[in-house]
Amino acid sequence: MQRKLRMGMVGGGPGAFIGEVHRKAARMDGGIELVAGAFDINPRKSKQMGRELCIDSKRTYTDYRKMIDKELALDADKRIDFVSITTPNNWHFPIAKDFLEAGFNVMCEKPMTMDVKEAVKLQDIVKKSRKVFGLMHNYTGYPMVKLARDMVKQGDLGKIYKVVVQYPQGWLIRPIERDGQQQAAWRTDPKQSGAAGCMGDIGTHAENLAEYITGLKIKEICADLTTFIKGRRLDDDGNCLVRFNKGAKGLLHASQISIGEENGLAIWVYGENQALEWHQEHPNYLYVKVIDGPVQVWRRGNDYVGAKSEAAGRATRLPFGHPEAFLEAFANNYVNFADTIRAKQARQKVDPISLDFPKVSDGVRGMKFIEAVVKSSKMGARWVKMK
Ligand code: NAD
Repeated sequence: MQRKLRMGMVGGGPGAFIGEVHRKAARMDGGIELVAGAFDINPRKSKQMGRELCIDSKRTYTDYRKMIDKELALDADKRIDFVSITTPNNWHFPIAKDFLEAGFNVMCEKPMTMDVKEAVKLQDIVKKSRKVFGLMHNYTGYPMVKLARDMVKQGDLGKIYKVVVQYPQGWLIRPIERDGQQQAAWRTDPKQSGAAGCMGDIGTHAENLAEYITGLKIKEICADLTTFIKGRRLDDDGNCLVRFNKGAKGLLHASQISIGEENGLAIWVYGENQALEWHQEHPNYLYVKVIDGPVQVWRRGNDYVGAKSEAAGRATRLPFGHPEAFLEAFANNYVNFADTIRAKQARQKVDPISLDFPKVSDGVRGMKFIEAVVKSSKMGARWVKMK
């Protein structure tokens, strides 16, 4: 009989943002239960979170290293199957490395590491460990994004000429990091965030979405990053020209100082025969544009979506007209990640459709993207190769 996978978490303490999203999403489909965690950098707050979540106090840890030791000391049928890492970026690598080397599967937040060197190291560690590693680029979990990817794959667009992708936000228009706003404070600190601010935080989502839908790889970037807010230490806006393989060209911009914008992730893909348009804030619709014809609106939950894209059908829970969004997209990555763990635990072949979740290779791409945009911008917006 199939059992629930046992989830542990590092990060996601009181007042944290994304940890709670992971907890809700992982448990959405009933196949995962949260049983342990080191939830906060502050041991007292970790304990507080454990109590709020009704986690056994013996499995609410004050430090992630203790969590590894104590979980390893448990019988295999009690121990966590995987850990979700939802800490600021500087902790991703050491925590992922230690859990993988101790024999645990890992789901990790993005950007994956602090630089390319760490990312490549982590890729080696994942390979050696033979464990499952998932990266939470959640936007690839939306049914209509999967539909878009499959339309491209099935050749509906023909050759892709141009890709425009954007991720504007406005929440950092004021220097709220100086007032101690938790999420802003570490995101604008190079020691915790990495070499890029806005471009690492959300530019990587745009990069990942463009490569996922089109199947193309960014080859070269010409980037102009700016820190508009005086005294801020990392970029809060970035505009890039992009050259993909197979001759496609594009634009990618991300911003955290664009007043009025919330989470305006959107993408336009222009092919020789058709074009696609998708907006994260209206995720249940995919616009398909044809030459000399009216714009089509494909709507999530209709049978024609599942008929066109098995992955989109599988990623759909509710009938049409009842919106699905952010939490469900996270949950879709968890479903595929968990099914992959289950198949490996049972020594069975993984169903290829379950392998549709972001992995360590996507994390390496993300870190190469950050390295390339920072380098290009420092050189006065010169073209830089993304190897
Ligand atoms: P946050 O500041 O709200 O929460 C971070 C939590 O991690 C805090 O509870 C903090 O105490 C805890 N923490 C820090 N170091 C720790 C350690 N060594 N051990 C245990 N706990 C520790 O941050 P956030 O906004 O939730 O972002 C966390 C991560 O999630 C970042 O990497 C960010 O880029 C990513 N994120 C991803 C998405 C997405 O859409 N995929 C959205 C938001 C954030």
